[in-house]
Amino acid sequence: MKTGAQYIESLRKLEPIVYFEGKQIESVVDHPLTRPHVNSAALTYDMAFDPVFEDLVTATSHLTGKKINRFTHIHQSTEDLVKKVKMLRMIAQRTGSCFQRCVGFDALNAAYSTTFDMDQKLGTDYHKKFVEFLKFVQEEDLMLAGSMTDPKGDRSLKPGQQVDPDQFVHVVSKDEKGIVIRGAKQHMTGMVNSHWMLIMPTTALTPDDKDYAVSCAVPVDAKGVFHIFGRQTNDKRKFDEMDQGNAEYGVVGGECLTVLEDVFVPWDKVFMCGEYQFAGLFVERFASYHRQNYGGCKGGVSDIVTGAAAAIAEYNGAAKAAHVKDKIVEMVHLTESLYACSIACSAEGHKLPSGAYYVDPLLANVVKLNVTRNIYEICRLCHDIAGGFIATMPSEKDYKDPKLGKYIEKYYKAVASFPTEERYRMGRLIENMTGGTALVESMHGAGSPQAMRVMLTRQGNVEHKKELAKRLAGIIKEYPAEKEAAATKDKE
Ligand SMILES: Cc1cc2nc3c(=O)[nH]c(=O)nc-3n(C[C@H](O)[C@H](O)[C@H](O)COP(=O)(O)OP(=O)(O)OC[C@H]3O[C@@H](n4cnc5c(N)ncnc54)[C@H](O)[C@@H]3O)c2cc1C
Ligand code: SF4
Repeated sequence: MKTGAQYIESLRKLEPIVYFEGKQIESVVDHPLTRPHVNSAALTYDMAFDPVFEDLVTATSHLTGKKINRFTHIHQSTEDLVKKVKMLRMIAQRTGSCFQRCVGFDALNAAYSTTFDMDQKLGTDYHKKFVEFLKFVQEEDLMLAGSMTDPKGDRSLKPGQQVDPDQFVHVVSKDEKGIVIRGAKQHMTGMVNSHWMLIMPTTALTPDDKDYAVSCAVPVDAKGVFHIFGRQTNDKRKFDEMDQGNAEYGVVGGECLTVLEDVFVPWDKVFMCGEYQFAGLFVERFASYHRQNYGGCKGGVSDIVTGAAAAIAEYNGAAKAAHVKDKIVEMVHLTESLYACSIACSAEGHKLPSGAYYVDPLLANVVKLNVTRNIYEICRLCHDIAGGFIATMPSEKDYKDPKLGKYIEKYYKAVASFPTEERYRMGRLIENMTGGTALVESMHGAGSPQAMRVMLTRQGNVEHKKELAKRLAGIIKEYPAEKEAAATKDKE
């Protein structure tokens, strides 16, 4: 396993082409825009060496029997699934932002079981190749970007119907050595500070869209790959300290647009090429694993937001107000509801034919659907308690200005016993964690709400619920036991 420092050193050896405002970022490790995201991901490495947390952050490889970082592990039990959620909450409580590595972790798990099922059904040989790649990832303790989302062009059209065929990543040619792919992946969390990306199809596909059924592993600095780093709310503040709110770990995951301009991928790194029948399953598995996470990582982030609300209420002199206490309790309730559902979908997981464990997909989708609401409500309550100053405070430079600073010190003081700077810093932390980029991530990260509703429609088994009602109303007299068992067994 690598330490955080070794991970950072390993990034220095890579040469990804990353642009921001038209200029190339020379080193993602050293640049102020990208460094907080590197720090955040580095914690997923360092915590594996912490004796208090190693049980959560490490696992035993089912392939080699070696101790590995959990972020490279294939879940072997429901206990593994539960530990994942606990690990994510624990890390998020320290970063207060996205630590990015879960996307690749979920991509590995989705690819592992999907390639297995694909080989069984179609007689292909992807799983063996994937297992070799996985061993390499585990051995080198690599960070992978989970690369599913295509730009998608006109949402009403299928991949092959787009005016521009590159709106979805596709195979443009293949020969005995490998394939060449073209297109882009959008909103790529942690991509610029990952080692490899694991490309997956973005949607279920039909025979007409065979060329879009592609999964493969590509180094982030492969020939033909470049990245355009995304703007974030207030990102220019990364050049200051206090104004950032969370200078060490930043906000969200340092997303980018990754362009793939005729990238060659050798066959041993290709895990799907044309098997459109399995694109939907791939998406569903990745999405369910990723949606499982949100009560963990957003639970941890919400712990900090709740703590920040309670602290700011003390600084403001409002902590004893009954409505403030009640709002804090509500924030705890919303947070624990998210967490409970993440634990539930993990505990209710089941074994797939490959031997890997999979979450209960219905409950995993409920987790993420709740996140698209509860996080907004938690942030709303925090804004309510904090007051308007979090949106209107003067800059750090003015605070440190010899002429202006004393006025900021004087007029941003609330309860006399608390230093103004503490209130200022806490206000900035709340501003950073509860608005702009951070909030949108809760809505669309791991899929927009409608994607979960589609899964709920499919998995909700309303027919069975109708039958339950009809039985109780005396409309159905007989209900065969095997039908009952089928309706309540693990769903996929
Ligand atoms: C901060 C952040 C980080 C992310 N990280 C990653 C990552 O690391 N890896 C990754 O693969 N993805 C990542 N994503 C992408 C995420 O999964 C997508 O944002 C999400 O799936 C929604 O896709 P979209 O943004 O293209 O929105 P759209 O698909 O454009 O959705 C916008 C709205 O249109 C609706 N809509 C879209 N298509 C249709 C249709 N055909 N019919 C009816 N309604 C439709 C949607 O339901 C939604 O309401 C990230 C996103 C964010 C915001
Ligand atoms: S949003 Fe959460 S689950 Fe997704 S990569 Fe970031 S920390 Fe992990």
